[in-house]
Amino acid sequence: MKDRLLFLGSGGSMGVPIIGCSCEVCKSNDPKDNRLRPSILLIHGGKRYLVDSGPDFRQQALRHHIDSLDALLLTHTHYDHIAGLDELRIYTFRQKKPIPCLLSRETLDELKIRYHYFLPPHEKDAIHATKLKFQVLEGDQGETSFEGLKVGYFSYIQVGMKVNGFRFKNVAYVTDIMEYGESLFESLKGIETLIISARRWEKSVAHLSVEEAIAFSKKTGAKKTYFTHISHEIHHETTTQELPSGFALAYDGLEIPL
Ligand SMILES: [Zn+2]
Ligand SMILES: [Zn+2]
Repeated sequence: MKDRLLFLGSGGSMGVPIIGCSCEVCKSNDPKDNRLRPSILLIHGGKRYLVDSGPDFRQQALRHHIDSLDALLLTHTHYDHIAGLDELRIYTFRQKKPIPCLLSRETLDELKIRYHYFLPPHEKDAIHATKLKFQVLEGDQGETSFEGLKVGYFSYIQVGMKVNGFRFKNVAYVTDIMEYGESLFESLKGIETLIISARRWEKSVAHLSVEEAIAFSKKTGAKKTYFTHISHEIHHETTTQELPSGFALAYDGLEIPL
């Protein structure tokens, strides 16, 4: 297996199409306008690392034949990033060991509330649930070794919640970013590829607009930027033509080399 990063989902929190919506994008026949909830899979050294496990995880795993999973990284605990956590139980059963999980202290504390029935201190009673082995990140930014993978990490805020972004070699995954400090750019120094959330062209409460994300990207010096967490207000083909060079929309199934 060649080292690479695979987009399992590039959609916003409601996915595209949105239930009951008959807009041009929701009705589009272009598969690139069909977006599952945001998640990526890294394939590195023959191992599979999942970043976030949203409500579409089962469908994503079937589509991409994710028959085994070596590790999980979590960005934060909003529904669109963790609702598929208990879908991972099949790997616990099959691999007969807990899945290593990298996350912040804040994410772990929140997870224990949302998934109290299978996380500590109740994990021993939950024999039919996903088993996770936690590796908690130290502080707000740094670098760590996680299951054979060198991971840079940093944090920012989305509607009051701390979110972690991750860096793998020269590729950074920065999803659900809204408020951030200048020190973030220290962690992103030297990246070549940036993956950043941008919901739509217009401003919104929880996400950067496409233009704000372009400005952010320019500050990092990334050569190539992919937008993810995209809503139904973005038409793939039209928007692709409108973006400046070096910027592209991610789409479900897109692979980039690591
Ligand atoms: Zn999200
Ligand atoms: Zn729509």
